[in-house]
Amino acid sequence: MACLGQAVIQRVLPTLRLDRRWLLAAAVVLLALPALAQGGGPPTIPGPVDAPAPGAAAAAVPDATPAPVPGEIPAPAPGDAPPPRTPDATTQGPGLPTTKPPALERVVVALPTDKPPPLAPPRQVLVVEAPTTKPPPLERGPADIPGPACDAEHHRPLIDEALAMARTRIREAIRLVQEEPDHPHVRRWFGSAPRKTIRITLELTAARLDDMTGVDIRCNDPPDCPGGRFAYASERTRVLGVCPPFFRARMDGTDSRWGILIHEASHLAANTRDHAYRPAGALRLAKDDAARAAENADNYEYFVETLPR
Ligand SMILES: [Zn+2]
Repeated sequence: MACLGQAVIQRVLPTLRLDRRWLLAAAVVLLALPALAQGGGPPTIPGPVDAPAPGAAAAAVPDATPAPVPGEIPAPAPGDAPPPRTPDATTQGPGLPTTKPPALERVVVALPTDKPPPLAPPRQVLVVEAPTTKPPPLERGPADIPGPACDAEHHRPLIDEALAMARTRIREAIRLVQEEPDHPHVRRWFGSAPRKTIRITLELTAARLDDMTGVDIRCNDPPDCPGGRFAYASERTRVLGVCPPFFRARMDGTDSRWGILIHEASHLAANTRDHAYRPAGALRLAKDDAARAAENADNYEYFVETLPR
């Protein structure tokens, strides 16, 4: 046997790899040995449970109340127990409940009636690249395009539209003067001026508007468009010019695009004057000097523009 033990030591031990893990495990076992020794020896194998001997149970029951564990609520001692319930006289058996158990209450749980809040939309971050090219220039309107030649694309359509409206409206004005020479509207703008003068001036102007042959229409010519001038006309040179404010004017109300053309055409066709400007000036002239009102271009313009229809 000694020879066999030596052989094992000589052959097996060198094959064992006694690295650190083995040493650590061995150290743990050595440290745990004293604790195992204090535990009370080897574990006992449970044997068959014996029935308690008579009298042994009584001896095992402790007759003293166990001391309360600190921190725990002590169990009630036998003397603290409530007195046993005396049976009711009407009951058959002792301790049976006499009253009906309380009816089960219906617990109504209100269901939520309102909608749950909508799910928040997924947040998206839109990354927009900064433009690297210049924005296109703002489109220029007829008022911004310089003249003096009228641009066929931008200027002429607005002029032609105004001319057409001026022709229509001045015919209605002529009809009113012919049919109702004492109409309040005629008195308002011309006072007591001769109706024949008013009518002839209107008819000459209408004829001019109908045929603009020989009239040099100019657009946005800076030297002739100072300040806020709408338009201008020269009977001598046969020039009718319109300025940027003309292209910004509307097609209704006073100082409309078509009314401005009636004013200028009256200069060309009937040699009207500019004694007074604006509606207030024209109305005052009709009251104070009817003869001059019948010569004043603005009186014709506003008379037609405010014609009752
Ligand atoms: Zn004028």
